Amino acid sequence: MQIRTDGLIIKEKLVSENDKLVTILTRNFGIIRAFAQGVKNLKNKNFSSTQLLCYSDFIIFKGRNKYIINESYNKHSFWNLRCNVEKLALAQYFCDLILNLIAEEQRHTEDILRLILNSLYYLSEEKIAYKLLKSIFEMRILSMSGYMPNLIYCSNCKDSAEKNFYFVPAVHGIICAKCIKDYKSAKFKLAESVLYALRHSVYSEFNKMFAFSLKSERLEELSAITESYLLKCLEKNLKTLDFYKQIMIN
Ligand SMILES: [Zn+2]
Repeated sequence: MQIRTDGLIIKEKLVSENDKLVTILTRNFGIIRAFAQGVKNLKNKNFSSTQLLCYSDFIIFKGRNKYIINESYNKHSFWNLRCNVEKLALAQYFCDLILNLIAEEQRHTEDILRLILNSLYYLSEEKIAYKLLKSIFEMRILSMSGYMPNLIYCSNCKDSAEKNFYFVPAVHGIICAKCIKDYKSAKFKLAESVLYALRHSVYSEFNKMFAFSLKSERLEELSAITESYLLKCLEKNLKTLDFYKQIMIN
């Protein structure tokens, strides 16, 4: 059986001298791991369309227990992400989040594909600060994978009129100033602009998602909050995140 789909290569692994096993986030078939045979050879017809971060059209043979790429055609290679170590580290972190948060059997991956393609485009064109892009991606992918936080009203007393809120990763939402004394876990006092940024990154329409900015001090706060929430939801560290942070500090 053959399947036809477009998709983004989010992971690659060498399995022999010439063959790779690539992980593809497809539009209609979820996450697929497929063999790309002979593609380490520059002359191979699938060479340029089966590289990490390539967005390609695929014709894939589906066997009883494995997938093999028959044909592939590069639609967009995001080549400039591979020429900049910071961009590449952030792109690989985004891919890693998808691998960790989206189940392979999940079939409705069109929105996730759209999210990462847009994020990679914004990253490659430098249309937005890396840190802001990272925070938006983190909140959006968490929201799409079952961890949408409550950012509307106090998760304890349900008050939405209160002006002062804290973000509490452990409750997956915000707690008002009146209730916060009862919460001993990590908490972040929210400036108005940071609460707005969080709400925007989670609830805004897709095509408006990246359309806002924050002052650098507030961006630091947002960044600390989204990363803390992400690590709380994942319950583990990611090497790609550690690597990205190492690069950004040096
Ligand atoms: Zn409250």
